[in-house]
Order: sequence, then C-alpha cells, then structure tokens
Amino acid sequence: MSGEYRADTDRSVLALIREYGRPYLHLAGLGLLLRLIWLVPGRAGPVVLGYLVDGVFGEQPLSVPLVPATVIPETQLGQLWLAAGVIFGLAALGHLFQLARTLAWGAFAYNLQHDIRTATYDTVQRLEMGFFDDHQSGEVMSILNNDVNEMEGFFTGTIDEAMDVVSFVVGAAVFMLLLNWQFALVALAAAPLIVVANYYFAGRIERVYGEVRETVGLLNAQLRTSISGIGVVKAYTAEPHERERVRSTSRDVMDAQRQAVDVRAKHYPSMRVLTGLGVVLTFSLGGYWVTAGPPGPFTEPMTAGTLVTFLLYVRHIGWPMQQIASVVDGYKSAAASADRILGVQNAAERVTERADATDLKRVDGRVTYDGVTFGYPESDRDDAAEGPVVEGVSFEVEPGETVGIVGPTGAGKSTLLKLLVRFYDVDRGAVRVDESDVRDLTLDSLREAVGYISQEPFLFDGTVRENVTYGADVDDGTMWTALERAEADAFVEELPEGVDTTVGERGVKLSGGQRQRLCLARAMVHDPAILVLDEATSHVDNETEALIQRSVASVVADRTTLVVAHRLSTVRDADRIVVIDDGRVAERGTHDDLLDRDGLYADLWRVQVGEVQALPDEFVARIEARADALDTDD
Ligand code: ADP
Repeated sequence: MSGEYRADTDRSVLALIREYGRPYLHLAGLGLLLRLIWLVPGRAGPVVLGYLVDGVFGEQPLSVPLVPATVIPETQLGQLWLAAGVIFGLAALGHLFQLARTLAWGAFAYNLQHDIRTATYDTVQRLEMGFFDDHQSGEVMSILNNDVNEMEGFFTGTIDEAMDVVSFVVGAAVFMLLLNWQFALVALAAAPLIVVANYYFAGRIERVYGEVRETVGLLNAQLRTSISGIGVVKAYTAEPHERERVRSTSRDVMDAQRQAVDVRAKHYPSMRVLTGLGVVLTFSLGGYWVTAGPPGPFTEPMTAGTLVTFLLYVRHIGWPMQQIASVVDGYKSAAASADRILGVQNAAERVTERADATDLKRVDGRVTYDGVTFGYPESDRDDAAEGPVVEGVSFEVEPGETVGIVGPTGAGKSTLLKLLVRFYDVDRGAVRVDESDVRDLTLDSLREAVGYISQEPFLFDGTVRENVTYGADVDDGTMWTALERAEADAFVEELPEGVDTTVGERGVKLSGGQRQRLCLARAMVHDPAILVLDEATSHVDNETEALIQRSVASVVADRTTLVVAHRLSTVRDADRIVVIDDGRVAERGTHDDLLDRDGLYADLWRVQVGEVQALPDEFVARIEARADALDTDD
C-alpha cells in the first residue's frame, strides 16, 4: 500500500477511539470492569486444588483463609464434594463472566467498526476528483474493507488476548506471592528465560513468514498476468516458458515455506522443553522444600498442596509469554490500518465548498471561461509535461447556445469541462455560470444546474429505471420524457422487462451507444439548464453514431450545451466551435467559417472525412510527434 495514507499522529488507534469510541465507551468500560472483577477469582482453581490436597490427603484439617471453619464439612468426602463444587462453581461463574464480557466488547467493537466505516465512506465521497485519478479504486476499497475490519479484529481479538495475558500473569502472581512469596520468586526464575527464547523465535518467525508472504505475492502476480494473457501465451506457444517461470517462483514459495516449517518445528518443542525444565525444577526444589523444610536462606515453610498449586501455574507460564508476541503483532497491524483510515480522512480536508457559498437560483445558462489557466496537481500528473494543461482560455457561451469544443487528443478539452463542474478548481482566471464564479456556489446547486456526461458512460448494477432516475425522485412520465429525448425509449421498450430490466455488470449487456443514451437520459431527468457532454472516444459504429447524434440534437435544443466532440460531425451544426490546441484557444467560429480559414480545424476535418492526402506535411509531422510521445510514455 502506498505510503500516502498517513495520519500525522503516532497514536492512530487511540485517535480513532477518541474520535468514534465515545458513544460506546460504557460498553468497553463494562467489559473491562468484568475483567477486573474476575482477574483474581478466575485463577483460583489451582489454589482450591492445593487446599484440597492438604486438607483431604494431608495431616492438618482443611482450613482456608477468609472461609469460616463452620462451613467446611468434617468428613473427608464432604470436603471433597465441597472442593469439587467450588471448582465447578468457579468454572460456571467464569463462563458467565466471559459471556458478558465478550458481548460487551463485541458490541463496542462492531459499533465502532460501523461508525468508522460509514464516516470514512462519507469522507471518501467528499474527496476531490483528483484523488480518484491518482488512486486505484482497489486501494480505497481495501481501506474501507480490510483496514476497517482490521480495527474490529483488534478490539475483539487482540485486546481480549492482551487482557487474558495480563489477567493470567496478575492472577497467578497474586496467588503465588500470597501462598509463599519466597518460593514464588524461585519458581518464576525460569520466566525470563522463556521470554528471551520467545523473543528470539518471534523475530525469526516474523522474518520467514515475511519471506513466505512476499514469494506468494510474486507468484500471484505471475499467475494473474499469465492467465489473463493466456491468449498471447497460446498464440506464441509460450506454454513451456510460462510453465518454467511459474515452477521457479513456486519453488521459491516452497523454499520459504520449508524454512517457516523448520522454525516453527523448533519453536514449539523448545518452549515445551523450557517450560518442562521449569516444572521439573519447581517440582524437585519444591519437593525438597516440603519434605526437608525451606532450604538455605529461605524461611517460609511449604505444604504439598501449595506445591501442587505452584506446579499448575508454572506449567502454563509459557503460554502468556508466547501470547505477548501475537499481541504486539496485532497492535502493529491495527496501528497501520488506523493510520491509513485517518490518512484518507485527512485527505478530505481539502474541502471544495466555501463556507459562504451561495445557491445558484434561477439559471439563465450563460457560461464564461475567463482567462482560465489550470494544471493538474504535481502528484496527479501522469506525464512529464511541465506547466499548465490549459492556459489563458477565454470564451463565452450564451444562454441556449450550443458550443462544440474540438482539438487534438490531449489538448485539454475534457479538462475544460471538468473545471465547469468543479471536479477541479482553476489556478488562474475564472469559470462563471451566469455572473457567478463557480467557486462561490454551493456544489449542490451548481451540479443541479449543470448536467455532466463523462466520456465513459457508467451504469450502476440495477434496473434501467434506477439508473435513469438516479439521484432524482420523479414520476414515470418524467422518466419516459427523458428517455425519449435521449432517443432511448425505443430500445428500452424492447428490453425483456422494459424499464425494470437489470443492466450493468450483472444484467443485460448494452452496447456502448445504448449506455451512452441511458446516461444522457439520466442527465435529462434533471432537466439541467446547462448540459456538458464529453463525447465518448470509444469507437461506435456508424448507425449508433447517427442515433447518438440525433439524441444529442434533441436534448441540446432548449438549453446551453457544451460538447467536447471527437467526431466532428457531432458539432457540425453547433452555433459555434472553439478549437483548442495545446491548452489554448486556436480558432473559433462556425463549421463553415473554420473550413474557410483552412487552419487546424480544417485539417482535423480532412482527417475525419478521409482526405488524408490533402493534409499539409506540417500537420502530419505533428501527429507523428504526438504518437511518438504517447509511445514513450508507456
Ligand atoms: P482532451 O480532452 O483534449 O483529450 P484532456 O483534457 O483529457 O485532453 O487532457 C489534457 C492533458 O491533461 C493531457 O496531457 C492529459 O494527460 C492530462 N490529464 C488529463 N487528466 C488528467 C488527470 N486526471 N491527472 C493528470 N493529468 C491529466
């Protein structure tokens, strides 16, 4: 993942909790409280067993601190039953505590997750368009999905695990120190050894698993390219070559996995041996302590029962030590996720609407470009081009007029339209609707007034109706009028379920021209005063082209229209044509004016009508230069 999504804080997890956790802190608090209450009683099992050993099987009668002697049965069997009852009771109560705790923490976690996800989605929607040019949607998706889920996993998994470790260590330590603090110090002597060994293995495990992940990633990338390019592979009979490539990477994966298995195979037994050593030491020294009295400098006597309790604790001491590594790991990946989430949220702070923005009221439909200069932000630029993409562009579109914008590819035509709908803001100059600078208007009112149809006709997965009435609450009459204006009514009626036919990825596949006409209909539903149309560059057949042109002609009739045209026939009848070359206005006039001028437009026209022989050499040279530049770009 790119390093751009970075929060400016080292404590991103905490920052997220502070931002979104407040309403649910009582749930987390409840979970914590339950944990605290049960911290010590939860570890009492081995102690009860210890007393039982002393009382039932030893010489002295069973006596338990804090428990009055009257409740303790006199017979051995009675005591046995009591102990069994207590152990069972502890287990049952522990179960209830855990249940309540898990529910409380779980509720905290999923509420938090939901809020973080929706808030992040909200900010993503408000991000300026430039963000999406620059970032693949997969990256944004991965933040909304994986990273947000990672946070939930952290709260329900990692934190719980951490608390388990703490409660084990604290609970066991409290009992051991209370029973015999001197022996406790001896018995815990092996713990640091286990910590060190664990640390050593955790480092190695992390390294080998990193290696595994990396090689698997490489393998995946390789499989993806060779499967998606299978046609090429077959056509060039490159199967043996591909097989060898895959085999070699797969072998790397295997090697990495072998190392991982190796480390893991050594890790667990080593831990066992160490804990076993601890148990044996505790047992021998403790046995001596019990039978011959405290050795050397030690003074506290010990019973067999206490030794049993100690052995039960020591046997499990390795477990929390191992858990620590996984808790640290969990925290690290949660912090990385929180970082990315906050990073996206921070990116949205470059807000696009002024605090004192005004609503565009009644729209006449005049559009003015006044000395407009604009360059894509440094980080967004995909070519090495220096300086602005459009420079000092001025022209005006009168209410109701249709103006075509034409010019060579990459001249900056689409960019001009995007500045009008404020996907980006101009660097110098201004774009005005009627008398208002678009930057002074509320985005809602601006986009209500200006219908924008982008180059790629996009349909959502859904019915024709949902797509056409998207973002508007209109009746069937309005919808059909829009469809008719876009010349889409005829083919929609032909669809298996009419307007209720599902289209898009998981529905009926429509042709490019049909998709475009549906998008046109979608814009028409809003009946915008100004229509901005970026003609699709993709190839459409002549019939479709004719249909699209007819539909365009019918929708432009009663509104201001700006059309970026790649097929000049689209704008042949426009009131005016503005020719853009290299970010500047090169020529302007009607189709006939421009042909008479015999300049850039006339050349472009000759290309389209196929009079290639008549093209001036200079123009051909330019086209070649441009094609070369595009080639070297890749
Ligand atoms: P046209 O519509 O005339 O083909 P565009 O307005 O799409 O041209 O593009 C003009 C120039 O701006 C091109 O050099 C293109 O590479 C660059 N450009 C367009 N969109 C972006 C973007 N989102 N980020 C960076 N550069 C862009």
